[in-house]
Amino acid sequence: MINVYNTMTNRKEEFKPVKPGEVSIYCCGVTPYNHPHIGNARPFVTWDVIRRYFAKKGYKVHYVQNFTDVDDKIIRTANEEGVTWKDISDRYIKAYFEVMDKLNVRRADVYPRVSETIPEIIDMVKTLVDKGYAYPVENGDVFYSVEKFTPYGRLSGRRLEDMQAGARIDIDTRKHHPMDFALWKSAKPGEPAWDSPWGKGRPGWHIECSAMSLKYLGKTFDMHGGGSDLIFPHHENEIAQSQACLGDTHAFAHYWMHNGFITIHNEKMSKSKNNFFTVKDILQEYPGEVVRFFILQTHYRSPLDFSDERLKEAQTSLQRLATTHTYAEELAKKAGTADTAKEIAVKAAECRKKFDEAMDDDFNTALAISEMFSLSKEINKYYADVTTGGTAFDAADFADVKAAYDYMASVIGIFEQSESAADDGLTDKLMELILSVRQDARKSKNWAIADKIRDDLKALGIVIEDTPNGARWKKA
Ligand SMILES: [Zn+2]
Repeated sequence: MINVYNTMTNRKEEFKPVKPGEVSIYCCGVTPYNHPHIGNARPFVTWDVIRRYFAKKGYKVHYVQNFTDVDDKIIRTANEEGVTWKDISDRYIKAYFEVMDKLNVRRADVYPRVSETIPEIIDMVKTLVDKGYAYPVENGDVFYSVEKFTPYGRLSGRRLEDMQAGARIDIDTRKHHPMDFALWKSAKPGEPAWDSPWGKGRPGWHIECSAMSLKYLGKTFDMHGGGSDLIFPHHENEIAQSQACLGDTHAFAHYWMHNGFITIHNEKMSKSKNNFFTVKDILQEYPGEVVRFFILQTHYRSPLDFSDERLKEAQTSLQRLATTHTYAEELAKKAGTADTAKEIAVKAAECRKKFDEAMDDDFNTALAISEMFSLSKEINKYYADVTTGGTAFDAADFADVKAAYDYMASVIGIFEQSESAADDGLTDKLMELILSVRQDARKSKNWAIADKIRDDLKALGIVIEDTPNGARWKKA
């Protein structure tokens, strides 16, 4: 039995799927206008483990995560750089995948983009207008009327009366209530725009997730996730849109899961405090597996403090588990019919049971990992006994021990990356170095050296492309 903390009810609940044997999950993705920062990485690593665990328990997992590829920040960045909004979103979607691959986060089943979901979004806004939950104003904006949706505020535990009192003075007079939010925004010059019944425009932020989850997961699905900063207003508004549109306050997600904040040296991360770390920067210093392990050593709902010291500690801890992994691999190659691993096999089964109990308790990866350490100690001891202590090897029972350890590692998602992926970015750094040497050779018109570097790399299966922004490399 898996218990899940549900933000909607503020307690842990037994997980009961909409469809037996299946679990459908929608997680709010990133707005690709920048390189993902460490706070962005946390939800996706968390959901990756949750998906893995459900799959291990025999569930068929459906996982949808969006890209908000039409957004003020993207448009602003594009205008600053003099490129199109699509150039920006494509560039940072690529950057997102690059770092998530290094964190060993597996791909979603589908990554819907706002720009590819416009018809569904317009349909939903139309339905909300027709049903009286939304109203267009003169310039072509369409607002959601929060007062029309009685349960508004249920997820975040806020009351509309209090929100009205706390609203800022500069209230938009076109709105019926200060908390009303835009479903559709009329087009401004230089912005991406699509035709709609209200004139040319683009979607507001919240409507995309309602339209996308309906399109890919149906009216009712199991879990909706995101960072706790999304509870209000984003998720509150998603609920208002979806349930009003479907005419059913039981529709939409059954379990709302939110991960805690990341602080940097116990301070809130912000660009102005100069403590803003992109995942890309951190991966220059640490392998992706270490960053992943660091995130998972804390339960997903607890605050997570990020510091160099804590990352180094995570690296040392992970190294201990990795050593055990190597020992287990080495022992598994041996033959042996002795009866010496019975006891450790019993302990391994216990650790595995406790590991599952921790994961069943709202995916407590912190506690689950501690069971890996318990088993790691046992395996290290047995390895020493067999390799230097003269103990005869017991292949049959040790296979069970190793299976337990491998199971835990595969839920946490470690020891899966190839050498090159886990090489600390050394390959990238070496390639940068080689390309800069070649660039120097070209500058001094030493074509023979430049060509030799290119040809020799080609023989190794690495292709160099010269672009206006400098040379790039890729594996052939
Ligand atoms: Zn969302």
